[in-house]
Amino acid sequence: MIPFEINLLNKVVVITGAGGIICNTFAKALSKTGAKLALLDINEEAVLQLEKEINEAGGTSQAYKCNVLSSDSLKKIHEEILKDLGLCDILINGAGGNNPKATTDDEYLDRNKMNELKTFYDLDEDGIRFVFDLNFMGTLLPTQIFSKDMLGKEGCSVINISSMNAYTPLTKIPAYSAAKAGISNFTQWLAVYFKNENIRCNAIAPGFFVTKQNEKMLFNDLGEPTERTKKILSNTPMNRFGKIDELVGTLFFLLCNDASSFVTGVVIPVDGGFSAYSGV
Ligand code: NAD
Repeated sequence: MIPFEINLLNKVVVITGAGGIICNTFAKALSKTGAKLALLDINEEAVLQLEKEINEAGGTSQAYKCNVLSSDSLKKIHEEILKDLGLCDILINGAGGNNPKATTDDEYLDRNKMNELKTFYDLDEDGIRFVFDLNFMGTLLPTQIFSKDMLGKEGCSVINISSMNAYTPLTKIPAYSAAKAGISNFTQWLAVYFKNENIRCNAIAPGFFVTKQNEKMLFNDLGEPTERTKKILSNTPMNRFGKIDELVGTLFFLLCNDASSFVTGVVIPVDGGFSAYSGV
């Protein structure tokens, strides 16, 4: 028996951060399964472009400008989606990211260099809140709004995006690390909370992929690998960065009831072995 064939015909899939690199790939792949996609992003241009590409290729999608940090914005868009596409079956919480204001220059505190570098003590309070909110509240609030549609239905699922930082924090990015640890924890909490509703809640923890969000940390202005890149690759048993397409199989596995009907509350690393390697 072939374990699964994915068919999401007429399922309504709401994707936040759909204008971003990972969810753009997720949306294009999902558009080939028969699903009806609601593409949400604060960057309207990005989702309008994606909607065009998907619909021209024969898929069904609709773009919505939406701020995942505003319940009002989410409620308004929820009403529109109900009219346009119907009740949400699947929610992918893809909006997230880090911000330089919440990133230190130093990996380890050196008191002699405190005047030269942005240390933990210099991190901007608003920057820290922004990153924490975007990653944590930006997942919790859409889940509050859209999971209500799933009550009493079959085959519904929530997918969150965690990170390597959730297992052990990376240097320099304390707010992002803590928020992603919160996402892994929240994924487990949700899975338990929905036990009577059979709404499965799982997360994907991508390893290292080069994107707009992190390319300045990974390559210098000449395009040469930074020290951080060298460290990442030497701690990745597969010794390379991932390709965004390599996340799609895990997404499909988690969304396909035939394949994963007994899987809930897990965080799956897709990381070339990074999280398995102690460095020795
Ligand atoms: P990205 O920056 O390309 O995409 C994020 C999208 O979220 C953007 O289109 C942005 O406009 C949107 N967004 C930001 N704030 C928003 C808001 N308030 N409301 C609605 N939309 C908003 O990033 P990506 O690399 O595609 O990352 C997607 C998710 O995966 C994020 O949660 C990120 O933290 C996580 N992640 C990425 C990597 C990686 O290597 N790229 C690794 C681990 C985890």
